[in-house]
Amino acid sequence: MINKVLIANRGEIALRILRACKELGIRTVAVHSRVDRDLMHVRLADESVCIGPNSAADSYLNIPAIISAAEVTDADAIHPGYGFLAENADFAEQVEKSGFRFIGPSAETIRLMGNKVSAIRSMVKAGVPTVPGSNGPLTDDEERTRQVAREIGYPVLIKAASGGGGRGMQVVHTEHALLKGVHVTQREARGAFGDETVYLEKYLERPRHVEVQVLADQHGNVIHLGDRDCSLQRRHQKIIEEAPAPHIDPQARERTLQACLDACREIGYVGAGTFEFLYQDGEYFFIEMNTRVQVEHPVSEMVTGVDIVAEQIRAAAGEKLRYRQEDIEIRGHALECRINAEDPKTFSPSPGHVERFHPPGGLGVRVDSHLYSGYSIPPYYDSLVGKLITFGESRDICLTRMHNALDELVVIGIKTNGSLHQRLVRDEGFRSGDITIHYLEQLIRRD
Ligand code: ADP
Repeated sequence: MINKVLIANRGEIALRILRACKELGIRTVAVHSRVDRDLMHVRLADESVCIGPNSAADSYLNIPAIISAAEVTDADAIHPGYGFLAENADFAEQVEKSGFRFIGPSAETIRLMGNKVSAIRSMVKAGVPTVPGSNGPLTDDEERTRQVAREIGYPVLIKAASGGGGRGMQVVHTEHALLKGVHVTQREARGAFGDETVYLEKYLERPRHVEVQVLADQHGNVIHLGDRDCSLQRRHQKIIEEAPAPHIDPQARERTLQACLDACREIGYVGAGTFEFLYQDGEYFFIEMNTRVQVEHPVSEMVTGVDIVAEQIRAAAGEKLRYRQEDIEIRGHALECRINAEDPKTFSPSPGHVERFHPPGGLGVRVDSHLYSGYSIPPYYDSLVGKLITFGESRDICLTRMHNALDELVVIGIKTNGSLHQRLVRDEGFRSGDITIHYLEQLIRRD
């Protein structure tokens, strides 16, 4: 049983978790940095604890402070949200060792999926399609490295096994540049992640980003909630996401969804997770698994009716999934625009005082945001201030609703990327649903 959850996060996702807990009749503890005492979820939580000064390193990443807060408030479980400590296996381990439930998979699973080389190996074993590559770390044998790259075919991508957030990667177009690229990536990886293991992958030149949402319990039950397309990205940061992914080959989709379920069984996955793929010419290529709830989870919730965060909490409590695969029906279409406090042209952050906030509403409109009139956005954290989600019978209706919702959205006092979203939902290319992960950057470059 879980009676009280400590929410080890901030902003919109902390509020999202709080709402799920309240619905389940679970009490909540908000932990926050000094500047964050006015966050919406801190006000709404049953209890709150200040865990440190403003810098994330001293507060939201401060493991001893978070565990102490769980001890003094007598919480049963800790929800890490996304970002911060959500994919930190040491944190998951310490939470469990201290006698609390970690709302997520085991530390062992997080570690396995956190290393890209071991993650790919598990996927190959489960029959999940991966990117053609070295299928393991590169060694000191330089001739062997050249040979592997030749077999894969240029361009190749050198990737750090411990890389993340789009860092620790380099594209190489010729054999001439290969070894230098390997050495540079190794050096960078050692500096950034303390692990210089690198491997090679075929560089796909015009893929889409398509991902699969899964849910699993501790009793061996696993389901998927279909897929999402998150191809609109800038610097590997997703901007707009949607479910289901448009124009996907139905047979390839079905095979991949089944393979994701097999992989979950193979690794003994528990909780919510996402398999990320690149999709090109009707084929899927696994790139990584995220062992946490994702920012874009609401679009899957809208088309399936499943509360992903509630299921995550239930799974951590040892309860069985409330759904079988045959209960899941993908209905309609959903879109999500990430509203960031930033300049829509330069993308520089725009924290500050929100004089007025007016969220849109109406049928098929959902707003997940911690903003309120009078709230001050601190400069210390991520610029995501809300998510505007629309749902409709068809992608077209969904796009129209998003357009109208963006028109209704009022945020005065700071800059947001609302006007960029307005432009994107009207853009012919995006509306066609047939774009690659480079589309947004190409569009911005053309301006
Ligand atoms: P991270 O952990 O940094 O997110 P990923 O493996 O997910 O690392 O890669 C980040 C991004 O890099 C992907 O979203 C995709 O845009 C791009 N990418 C990764 N692998 C490839 C590949 N083989 N070919 C082309 N682009 C890739």
